[in-house]
Amino acid sequence: MSDIVLDLKGIAKSYLKGTPGEVRVLSGLDLSVRRGEVVALVAPSGAGKSTLLHIAGLLDTADAGTVTISGRAMAGLSDRARTDVRRGEVGFVYQFHHLLPEFSALENIVLPQLANAVPKSRAEARARELLARVGIAPRADHRPAELSGGEQQRVAFCRALANGPKLLLADEPTGNLDPATADQVFAALMELVRDTGLSALIATHNLELAARMDRVVHLDNGVLH
Ligand code: ADP
Repeated sequence: MSDIVLDLKGIAKSYLKGTPGEVRVLSGLDLSVRRGEVVALVAPSGAGKSTLLHIAGLLDTADAGTVTISGRAMAGLSDRARTDVRRGEVGFVYQFHHLLPEFSALENIVLPQLANAVPKSRAEARARELLARVGIAPRADHRPAELSGGEQQRVAFCRALANGPKLLLADEPTGNLDPATADQVFAALMELVRDTGLSALIATHNLELAARMDRVVHLDNGVLH
């Protein structure tokens, strides 16, 4: 079995292709993330971090290149099969929590599992276990608006991990928090990732956080180095 969880080869992406305003964002980029490895993706704003994460997470498609997840080539998969991979094998966290406001923390973690055909009682047990791991079990019945920014992000991490993905993709997950909270929330995320043996690609501006990951890659002029 392959030890590479995410393998990107020759990824290219431009926006507004074929127009005078064409923006070449990724220019034949390669990246491999091994099982259990946590990679920091560092780049200035506008360099293409979100574009890269969206392509890796099958939320967008590249103009050229291949995406392989857990040894399985994504090219040529049906939309249905891509959705299954995205739902079951990849977890996403954004800078803003994007929790559903009318549902509790617990329900926000249960819903993606129900969409993945997990029985409700098992989904709730897993949601409670995840909330306990990130230290906010007592907040299970609170809605997002009743949680602090740090707590909201902790719930978003739990939701991303709800279906037991192999790969976590995170786009500035602590970028919206004050430095002290960012530090604690990042520590909670790393503990969760280490406990579950997940692989992760985490975009950040924060070089101090980047240095706490296993490896740092810099995105510059459409390639990594
Ligand atoms: P980052 O996440 O590093 O800030 P993005 O991946 O969001 O960068 O964007 C990279 C570049 O691509 C930016 O110059 C941005 O303006 C441009 N871009 C992103 N999405 C689109 C789009 N849908 N149409 C046109 N240009 C886009």
